[in-house]
Amino acid sequence: GPSRPRILPAPRLDYRNISENMVYKSTNALNRKAPLPSDAIQSIARTYTEFKNLQSTLNSRRNARSAVGERIRRSVEEKDLEAKEAAMAEALKIKEEIAPLEAALLAVEENLLSLALAIPNDTHPSSPLGPESAALTLSTHGPEPIPPNPERDHVTIARKFGLVDFESGATVTGSSWYYLLNEAALLEMALTNYALSIAIKRGFTPVTTPDVVRSEISDRCGFRPRDNSDPPVSQVYHIHSAKSSDLILSATSEIPLGGMFANKLFSDKTLPLKVVGLGRAFRAEAGARGRDTHGLYRVHQFTKVELFAVTTQEESEKMMEEMKSLQTAILEGLGLSFRVLDMPTEELGASAYRKYDMEAWMPGRGGWGEVSSLSNCTDYQSRRLHIRYQNNASAASTPTTFAHTLNGTAAAIPRLIIALLENGAKFDDLGELVAITLPETLRPFWVGGNERTII
Ligand code: AMP
Repeated sequence: GPSRPRILPAPRLDYRNISENMVYKSTNALNRKAPLPSDAIQSIARTYTEFKNLQSTLNSRRNARSAVGERIRRSVEEKDLEAKEAAMAEALKIKEEIAPLEAALLAVEENLLSLALAIPNDTHPSSPLGPESAALTLSTHGPEPIPPNPERDHVTIARKFGLVDFESGATVTGSSWYYLLNEAALLEMALTNYALSIAIKRGFTPVTTPDVVRSEISDRCGFRPRDNSDPPVSQVYHIHSAKSSDLILSATSEIPLGGMFANKLFSDKTLPLKVVGLGRAFRAEAGARGRDTHGLYRVHQFTKVELFAVTTQEESEKMMEEMKSLQTAILEGLGLSFRVLDMPTEELGASAYRKYDMEAWMPGRGGWGEVSSLSNCTDYQSRRLHIRYQNNASAASTPTTFAHTLNGTAAAIPRLIIALLENGAKFDDLGELVAITLPETLRPFWVGGNERTII
């Protein structure tokens, strides 16, 4: 809230755009099931009118003040005492009028901001309408999916080969916390380095990030710390330190990566900026249950390699395709069966203008499971984080434009491990689980040079 001082200047939202496109904004919020009071858009339009009226009253009072100032100067020059007294009295009156107008303007602006912060991004015209089931399959890749088979369940496989320790995770931290052991621990590192190497080859700069962030930065990236349930539940872990209670464990390195560009002005010639971050993601996952919490599928901490790009407004759709092609190359290299989905409106969250998910086939789970996600956030994050560019950086007067930002998963380790174990399991003639074959592509990435292609 406004009580805590902001680290960055207030978000710069486009109130005029909202006021001039009320029908679109309302329909869009409904299509996205955005948690927004039903009259929010109308309130913003009304408050914006109030804001503009106050602003123009204030401007006219400020102009009057300058005019009176001029009169005072002249009367002093002309030694006209009477005129000076009159002008001074008027100056005092105007000053007394201005103070409350300024306070009122600040209050209205604060109100306008808090109303408009809840408005989701616009939506790409091609995004399907509706819930998750309305997702559109854009392409399918890799081998034919093998039939569902509960014997391929990754937990069963992991236990047989001593790859995961959920019991120690439960003792040390709680349920859905885990240890990766032996080849699984090395697999995490191999997958990480494999994904990093492909991203770096395609021009992404490697970065390791802080995994603890100010909640303000997380908010400005479009993550609401509380979900929509009633009463709201926090989906992030808060850090209670003596110094500050404002820190959280980052839910994704998208947050520190976006924050890295905050409050910066770039020349358009330096764009796009492309970084690949390595970090740990922390999710409270309150309320999660059922088959999605089985084993490694939905855990509280995981290692993730994350892509992030800053582009001009014209280039973001092209960058989205470039990042999709990178993600596709990573999953193809692992030999997985997967499909790319264009996600429907109700799955876009607050920040995404368009979102592609990639789902890998998991035969033990008996279905497709999301392994990566890609979002074009257009100027949603940059208006909040103040990420801007200008055409000719040398001319200070050139207007600045809000950049477009995109983020995508290069590798979310636990779900890749699930897909690799469930697809790579090998059974002998008697149906006994005997080995797990791993992709050849990972060969150069094993710690210590043990070129494992089989467990
Ligand atoms: P998101 O940032 O929520 O779009 O997630 C990016 C990717 O991280 C997903 O595609 C999953 O592969 C993975 N992921 C998200 N949440 C979890 C979780 N709780 N446990 C394990 N993997 C997750």
